[in-house]
Amino acid sequence: MSVDLSMLAPLRKPRVSFEFFPPKTPASEAALESTGRRLAAYGPGFMSVTYGAGGSTRDRSIRTAERLGQKTGVPVAGHLTCVGASRQEVDDVARAYWEAGVRHIVALRGDAPDMKAGFVAHPDGYRSAAELVRGLRDVAPFEISVAAYPEVHPEAQGAQADLDNLRRKLDAGATRAISQFFFTPEAFLRFRDAAIAAGITAEIVPGILPIGNVSQARKFAGMCGAHIPDWLLRQVSDLEEQPEICAQITTALAAMMCRALQQHGVESFHIYTLNRAEPGIALCRLLGLEDAN
Ligand SMILES: Cc1cc2nc3c(=O)[nH]c(=O)nc-3n(C[C@H](O)[C@H](O)[C@H](O)COP(=O)(O)OP(=O)(O)OC[C@H]3O[C@@H](n4cnc5c(N)ncnc54)[C@H](O)[C@@H]3O)c2cc1C
Repeated sequence: MSVDLSMLAPLRKPRVSFEFFPPKTPASEAALESTGRRLAAYGPGFMSVTYGAGGSTRDRSIRTAERLGQKTGVPVAGHLTCVGASRQEVDDVARAYWEAGVRHIVALRGDAPDMKAGFVAHPDGYRSAAELVRGLRDVAPFEISVAAYPEVHPEAQGAQADLDNLRRKLDAGATRAISQFFFTPEAFLRFRDAAIAAGITAEIVPGILPIGNVSQARKFAGMCGAHIPDWLLRQVSDLEEQPEICAQITTALAAMMCRALQQHGVESFHIYTLNRAEPGIALCRLLGLEDAN
């Protein structure tokens, strides 16, 4: 009897990008450089560095982006939010990114420090990501990416209003959307198809999160409205003390989800690394990417 396992072979080689957060200590900075170098070997189109709520990581984000770019040779995108800062202050951060060699911004509104209170714009600040995108065009000729929400942003008036907002951000000058993470391919594909039907032609790159820490993933998912299916939770919810096993399972599941998306024409994936190299490397390899070193 012959058994056909060709379904396990990778499909087309995808494009990937990796997201990191700025480390707090010299030791974790060194660790991130090593992580960045190991992941750079898989040929990412770019790597991005997040920006803490209310600018709390301002200097670290800029420094991390600059160093990652220098150490890996991979183009780096700096995230930037509008929370708690005037337009002038936000523009100054963008200028500092530019001076640090960063040519790509992930432009975000951000969240209020107290999420229950909701977002309130600084009196002289940008009121939304769309306004920030418009403002950035006057600072420097950045490539600009924005956020998209397959399961609808929690504050949006509805799915259509959220799509209209995505269109405003793209019309303002962004060239790509990166999605919030999700755990069912249907969630992303429905959203992508609705965006295409609404005339949005820019690339929407799915954000992929291999869960390494179950309670953290539950918390993130709760905050952004991402649904974690019960069957997935059952597979990993008692692995709190065994994060390595959890990561192995969820990385394999993430690879299956990416392949399902590839079968529907998705060519790029943005991987939320949480500053860990191993899940990203395993995911790249399962998708057919090779270590170039
Ligand atoms: C890929 C990605 C990266 C991220 N990186 C970071 C990061 O580094 N740091 C960080 O703090 N957060 C980050 N976030 C989280 C993000 O800041 C939050 O999700 C935030 O709540 C919304 O930001 P936004 O840029 O999507 O906002 P916006 O696009 O401005 O939208 C915010 C909400 O307002 C609504 N809205 C906007 N304009 C209008 C309008 N004119 N009329 C009606 N409704 C409107 C939208 O539909 C939406 O519900 C990231 C999210 C993603 C997906």
